[in-house]
Amino acid sequence: MSGTTLPMRVWTGTVVRAQDLTPTMRRVVFGGEGLAGYASTGVGDEYLRLIFPVDRASDPILPTVTNGCLDYNSIDLATMRTYTVRAFEPATGEVTIDFVIHDGGVAAEWARAARPGDRIGLNTPDGMYDPPAGLTWQFLVADCAAIPAAARLIENAQAGVRTRAILEVPGPAHHLDLAAAPGVEVTWIHGGNGHGPSRLEQVVRSLPRPAGGVGYIWVAGETKELRGVRKYLRRELGLPSSAYKTVGYWTDGAEKWRDRYESLDAETKTMLDAIWETDADLGDVEIRYDEQLARLGL
Ligand SMILES: Cc1cc2nc3c(=O)[nH]c(=O)nc-3n(C[C@H](O)[C@H](O)[C@H](O)COP(=O)(O)OP(=O)(O)OC[C@H]3O[C@@H](n4cnc5c(N)ncnc54)[C@H](O)[C@@H]3O)c2cc1C
Repeated sequence: MSGTTLPMRVWTGTVVRAQDLTPTMRRVVFGGEGLAGYASTGVGDEYLRLIFPVDRASDPILPTVTNGCLDYNSIDLATMRTYTVRAFEPATGEVTIDFVIHDGGVAAEWARAARPGDRIGLNTPDGMYDPPAGLTWQFLVADCAAIPAAARLIENAQAGVRTRAILEVPGPAHHLDLAAAPGVEVTWIHGGNGHGPSRLEQVVRSLPRPAGGVGYIWVAGETKELRGVRKYLRRELGLPSSAYKTVGYWTDGAEKWRDRYESLDAETKTMLDAIWETDADLGDVEIRYDEQLARLGL
């Protein structure tokens, strides 16, 4: 199911329309000439970086692409955030992003007031959802930030693959009308998302896994909540990293986290970066990284 990796480019999108979907989710549709040639990987959780202007009247300052990759040294990271392509319409070239609206944050504040004509930078997307061949069942577990990705995965679920989706939102007013593919079971739970404790780890622990068959567990939500999920799947269940994907989408108290990270000395930052450069299995590398962050109070 893994899609094609597309050549990296940076694009400019112009807001065509925006609408509130729920009290805390706003849909913004981008189009315009700056998106001519834009393409999708076709992977349900494909994500990209959005580059916000310093103020609404200015154009965003776009990063450059070096050796096929975004050059993160060429951009003010404070203006960049990661979002899911909720939909791409090849006929019109329109890209849809669903933003969680919350207090604070460059992205949420921009999206709250987005109106036709506003301009933003975006790059070529990439996907992470990559189930094993011969998939027979899957669990999709998400909080609000990951609902755009879960929704696409729910809509695109392959026929014959038993799919259970558990979506965590603040309350009933936050449920969305999803066009689930036949055979997909969707359950809404309430909490998390900065409104209360997240229950994603508890959910994953309680889901009865089908006996036999080929399964995949995709979980995305608040970063620290995801640490417990990852540890459970890898250490307690002993799953190979090909059998699951766990992605921290946002960090509760991000401002404090960023300050704390910035205050680390160069040696500690190098140690953290080096964790990703080993040949060890990704599942173990991720847990090692989580453990080091926790040790540093991050
Ligand atoms: C692969 C990937 C795909 C993503 N797709 C989406 C998407 O489609 N839609 C989406 O809304 N988000 C998505 N996110 C999450 C998004 O990148 C973060 O929520 C991001 O931090 C928002 O930036 P901000 O500038 O609004 O807030 P920040 O500057 O990061 O944070 C400001 C404050 O807001 C809080 N905060 C941040 N995000 C949330 C949240 N979701 N709920 C409650 N409080 C929050 C922080 O704790 C902090 O206190 C995705 C993340 C990843 C990694």
